[in-house]
Amino acid sequence: MSLTARLKALIAAEGPIPVSTYMTFCLHDPEEGYYATRPGLAEDFTTAPETSQVFGELIGLWAAHEWQAMGRPDRVTLCELGPGRGTLMADALRAATSVPGFAAAAQLYLFEASAPLRRMQAERLSGHAPTFVEDLDALPDQPAILIGNEFLDCLPARQFVRVGGAWQERVVGLDAAGQLRFGLAVDTAPPEPALRETSAELDLQPGLETLIETLAGRARAASLRVLFLDYGPADTPPGDTLRAYRAGEQIDPLAAPGESDLTVDVDFTRLRRLAEGAGLAVAGPVTQGAFLGALGAQARLDRLIAANPEDAETLFAGVSKLVDPAEMGARFKAICLSSSGLAAPAGF
Ligand code: SAH
Repeated sequence: MSLTARLKALIAAEGPIPVSTYMTFCLHDPEEGYYATRPGLAEDFTTAPETSQVFGELIGLWAAHEWQAMGRPDRVTLCELGPGRGTLMADALRAATSVPGFAAAAQLYLFEASAPLRRMQAERLSGHAPTFVEDLDALPDQPAILIGNEFLDCLPARQFVRVGGAWQERVVGLDAAGQLRFGLAVDTAPPEPALRETSAELDLQPGLETLIETLAGRARAASLRVLFLDYGPADTPPGDTLRAYRAGEQIDPLAAPGESDLTVDVDFTRLRRLAEGAGLAVAGPVTQGAFLGALGAQARLDRLIAANPEDAETLFAGVSKLVDPAEMGARFKAICLSSSGLAAPAGF
């Protein structure tokens, strides 16, 4: 049975499902889920590392710098969450070899749900002997630097809508013709009191809380730095931001279950609150443009252009797209979560 048919049968039997359940099926169903079977990176959507090599290079230099700031431990875990095609990490490791000692200390771990992408990453990064982990708890107890670009936006979200004074949850049900459609479940309030005070629409990713708890546990065991880059507002919770992309076009999220990438904006205010509540030190969010600028995007670009003058225009266009507030520079944010007691991270 197709994923669409299975979803319809589930809803017919058990009633409408939360948007988060719908997202989980669409992204991770083992037979037809988008990431599980047909991740279309660089086809359905294009990310920062696929836009310019400068992105991964600056993050690699950032990681090496943070390793130095941790006191240059003999062994450091370098782990990427949702590495996609492996582009960011390939660029990062190439650039970071310029920092003496880092390559020898860094042990590469990858956390990736998608089997086709795991194969691609294993091939792309074979020179660095990556270890795949199913669970962040499986990482060794040693100092660690974790990086996730456009990872958080795929964590499934529940959606809440305030109608009059009452909160309702957006759900996926069936219309009279038996097709998938959005509806509202009455009297379901967001589970966190702080969020009930806020706007009239709210997207809430339950998985963020579990992730923060895991990271906080790791941060207590050994020095930890976690860098997330993603899109979302810096100081208001996102509302009604579920989007689906196929072949570079935005489509109806219910139109093609499993065939399109589904994402939501990240709630950086909540991420920060959860992280601080769990005892992590938080830097940011700052805009991606400010972060990459502080890490020396311009100098890196100038050097690349000097070495490859024939590619100057492409190189310039790529970096501009990453930092220009009218493109990815302002909508994307960087945030860093750390063990308490470490110096402030670079770039914030
Ligand atoms: N970081 C890459 C890819 C971003 S797309 C880039 O910037 O190009 C999101 C990535 O997260 C994909 O690799 C996807 O398979 C992975 N992913 C999504 N949900 C995940 C989960 N729950 N656990 C592990 N990986 C996940």
